[in-house]
Amino acid sequence: MKEIVVASGKGGVGKTTVASSLAVYLAKNGKRVYTADVDVDAPDLLLALGGGKETLFSMEVQASKKAKVDQEKCVGCWRCVEICPFGAMLKSPSGKAAVATLMCEGCGVCKLVCPADAITVEKAETGRITIERTKYGFECVTGKLKLGEHNSGLLVSHIRNLARRKAQDAGCKAVIVDAAPGIGCPVIASVTGADYVIAVTEPTPAAKRNFERLSRVVKHFQVPAGVVINMAGYSKDFESALRKWAVGELGFQFLGEVPVDREVVKALVQMKPIIDFNPEAEASKALLEIAKRVESEVL
Ligand code: SF4
Ligand code: SF4
Repeated sequence: MKEIVVASGKGGVGKTTVASSLAVYLAKNGKRVYTADVDVDAPDLLLALGGGKETLFSMEVQASKKAKVDQEKCVGCWRCVEICPFGAMLKSPSGKAAVATLMCEGCGVCKLVCPADAITVEKAETGRITIERTKYGFECVTGKLKLGEHNSGLLVSHIRNLARRKAQDAGCKAVIVDAAPGIGCPVIASVTGADYVIAVTEPTPAAKRNFERLSRVVKHFQVPAGVVINMAGYSKDFESALRKWAVGELGFQFLGEVPVDREVVKALVQMKPIIDFNPEAEASKALLEIAKRVESEVL
């Protein structure tokens, strides 16, 4: 079984379009496939696959800690308010301390200084992991980070581990992982230990710069990688230079170009992967070629 991570240095370049098309192509060609959306700040792979048809599993993830004040015990000395390094302990109008939970980092300093033993630091919900069956038959694990929460890398690792385990149990040939954009903690947690990374970029200076940053992450973790240039067609010269640079200087395998195509937007509105929405669209033809290349060279 191979784990293929679809990543991009910049958001909005078509990562989910590539991931959803690859998964649907493999499933339609008789390959058992599993999918995971680890963009825990803004998960949308399930939406691109038509939404969940059946919820198979849902669990809360507790990866952070928060302070809690026992109002009965608090004597209003304000030591905790003065010492909290994150400004998370507040003076409430009732004369007791109160925690601004979104700001609390769970460091426990307040608990150490409280003379009334009124503070406890307890595990708190960071996010939720759900497994849904899609209308294409395969399953999709998604994670959602709770508002204002951190530790997204840990949530990503939980999702990837769960997806790999479920995929192995089901005898899947591939796990397709839709990563978060950028090069931060969730992307590092997505890329490390993967079998292959598909980097999606577009022919613009901003996307090129962020693709280069992503390439450093991929190189650091020594993961074989290929590049897809999406939204091609506006500047042949730029695209050609981008392709040569990606292959020659960054060492990426060139997987293909996907032309600008309004059908892609219509497919997104209809919540269908473009290769299913309109197989005759130019973007679909390009994505199918890319999927075939990945199938023959990676799986
Ligand atoms: S646990 Fe740390 S961050 Fe949270 S309220 Fe106490 S001192 Fe502030
Ligand atoms: S240190 Fe303890 S007693 Fe003092 S204000 Fe904070 S919670 Fe209340």
